[in-house]
Amino acid sequence: MEKVFEGKKVSKGIGEGRVYVFRRNEELIRRRVISDTGLETKRFSDAAEKTKNDLLLVSEEAKKSFGNTGADIFSSHLLILQDPLFLDPVREMIKKEKVNCEFAIVSVVDRMIEMFSAMKDEYMKARYSDIKDVAERVILNLSGEEKYELNEDGPFIVVSDTAVPGDLMRLKDMGLAAIVTRKGSVYSHTSILARTMGIPAVTGINFQDDIDGSFAIVDGNLGSFIVAPDESTKEQYGKEKDDLRSEEEKLLSLRDLPNITLDGKEIGIFSNVNSLSDVSNAVNSDAGGIGLFRSEFLYLEKSDYPSEEELFINYRKAAELMGTKPVIIRTLDIGADKNTSYFGLSDEDNPALGLRGIRFSLRHPETLRTQLRAIYRASNFGNIHILYPMISSDFEIEEIKRLESSVKKELRDAGSPFSDDVKRGFMIETPAAAIMSDVFAADADFFSIGTNDLTQYMMACDRNNDSVALWGDQKNPAVLRAIENVVHSAKKNNVKVAICGEAAEDMSLTKGFIEMGVDSLSVSPSMVLLLRQYIRGLTLS
Ligand code: PEP
Ligand code: MG
Repeated sequence: MEKVFEGKKVSKGIGEGRVYVFRRNEELIRRRVISDTGLETKRFSDAAEKTKNDLLLVSEEAKKSFGNTGADIFSSHLLILQDPLFLDPVREMIKKEKVNCEFAIVSVVDRMIEMFSAMKDEYMKARYSDIKDVAERVILNLSGEEKYELNEDGPFIVVSDTAVPGDLMRLKDMGLAAIVTRKGSVYSHTSILARTMGIPAVTGINFQDDIDGSFAIVDGNLGSFIVAPDESTKEQYGKEKDDLRSEEEKLLSLRDLPNITLDGKEIGIFSNVNSLSDVSNAVNSDAGGIGLFRSEFLYLEKSDYPSEEELFINYRKAAELMGTKPVIIRTLDIGADKNTSYFGLSDEDNPALGLRGIRFSLRHPETLRTQLRAIYRASNFGNIHILYPMISSDFEIEEIKRLESSVKKELRDAGSPFSDDVKRGFMIETPAAAIMSDVFAADADFFSIGTNDLTQYMMACDRNNDSVALWGDQKNPAVLRAIENVVHSAKKNNVKVAICGEAAEDMSLTKGFIEMGVDSLSVSPSMVLLLRQYIRGLTLS
């Protein structure tokens, strides 16, 4: 029978498909007290056995495709699954501490990794990634999840308690039609990612796991989630989808037209992107350029740092797709909710106030140097500029300038060509940067105001915590005054100023931003033409 859940809209559009209740590893590995240790030990043995069989199959496949070298990779995995050094302590911990086997596996593996990483032998050190891999496979088999086979029966509506950006990056190519979460907020990176990718999403839905496998519809325009819709609902949504499609087609007639108000004020509309497929969408919607390439997503979909070559290929392709239009690449902005294991970030009490963005990059200068080399090299193939996230202090700017000069010298010495016109921009996301913008302007070619973080830090409200959404309002006068101050500093110092946070998509703010003197707005690809249509109907005060 049809069941309608009402929640909060996160990303517009209508998505249909089969429900897939998704549980993240983090939820599975939480410590739980169990009463039947015998049963828990059997769960572990069964999952280890299943993993062994899976690996034997994969190993055979690898042998067919890559010969013995391919199969060798998996033989060390198989050895771990027979190793008493791994199996015995897990069983012992289940028995002694009465804990779930997922927790026992992770605890034992953590201890083993610590032991291996203390060893001098590089080969032994490298073994820890094998152990981690094996443990992950066993945990996946314990959960009965089949997340890597989603594609076969897609499209899917992923239904989850919460979702982090890494989850979405892993699921995006697996027939993902829509996202439903129990907890979430409109300004979290997961929500932003969904909007940029044009995937309908709703949050605040109190679902039960028994909906797994049912057909459902997500209405991102209203914030509702309809499980097992009846025929008349399906028909109604069929019509709505047709209407949306014809509205989108109408908007396409605005391509190649300027973003100009009725009284003649022109403004740039750029696009925010996270991947090359978003860049193609930005081209299709005639964005004036890429205002924010969130480069961290190139890192989040990997299990280790991407190489300079990999980054270079992505940046070069983005530049080529955009032709002469600007492509602003933001350097790695990780930390807080954008995290993955290989960054090795320690558990921080307040990660949003921790080693985020430029702080991480300056603590790991080699990572930043690799990224700068890739960006400069790609600048030879288009109109590329660099944007630095989470700036708050002048010493960061000094260090950035030093690293830029050193990387450029290195490239020049090696005869590697790059453009002379790569501009330097700072994200204005901290109250410190907003207040100091007149000083920071001396070293900037442009500012990009990140209203998501600026609101979070100005209002002291976690952007991922929906219960303080009332206070974390991007329209709060304190935030708008800070923006006005930045625009004023920029104008006085001949520095271009853009807004690239979610406030740029809020049309109730557009007129005010243009009147303040903002030069451009950077929004999701699907918002570019809608915003153009709105601006072309505006008259300024
Ligand atoms: C912002 O903070 O407004 C911004 C654009 O950066 P991100 O959302 O990626 O933190
Ligand atoms: Mg930000």
